[in-house]
Amino acid sequence: MMDLRTEERQALDEYIIKKIEDRGVSLQQIGELTYFLQEKYYKDLTVDDCVHNVKAVLLKREVQNAILTGIQLDELAEKGMLDFPLQDMIAKDYSLYGIDEILAFSIVNVYGSIGFTNFGYIDKVKPGILRELDIKDDSKSVCHTFLDDLIGAVAAAAASRIAHSGKFD
Ligand code: MG
Repeated sequence: MMDLRTEERQALDEYIIKKIEDRGVSLQQIGELTYFLQEKYYKDLTVDDCVHNVKAVLLKREVQNAILTGIQLDELAEKGMLDFPLQDMIAKDYSLYGIDEILAFSIVNVYGSIGFTNFGYIDKVKPGILRELDIKDDSKSVCHTFLDDLIGAVAAAAASRIAHSGKFD
């Protein structure tokens, strides 16, 4: 069945992509992460195929909700608008905070358990844009505490979507 999306939903779909791009990450860069995860399993896979799957992941409501929430918290932390002690925890990316990863799980969860393995792996290796997001520049008040996990999770979910589709077997 064709997915008939209301205008309101389509506007939200576009807003999510714009929001991610405004935070300095392109769909191409997320697709490259997915490619990094899947290239060894599917020899005909291209980065374009991966970007296509990233776009499909970004249409899911659970995914959109997680992205909206996480990016909002990063932005509030940049503006110093959160209350103590959360302000410091998020702005300084305290390693024991952990809610950034928990939120990202809600994205990975959409495509089942393969997603968790992919997410854990990419979060450890931090290729491409994940490395860039991880570099802290204390001279600028930039906060990517949630964004790095959200992006890694979207890439991992897209990788799982490819694995489940069987299209590249
Ligand atoms: Mg994080």
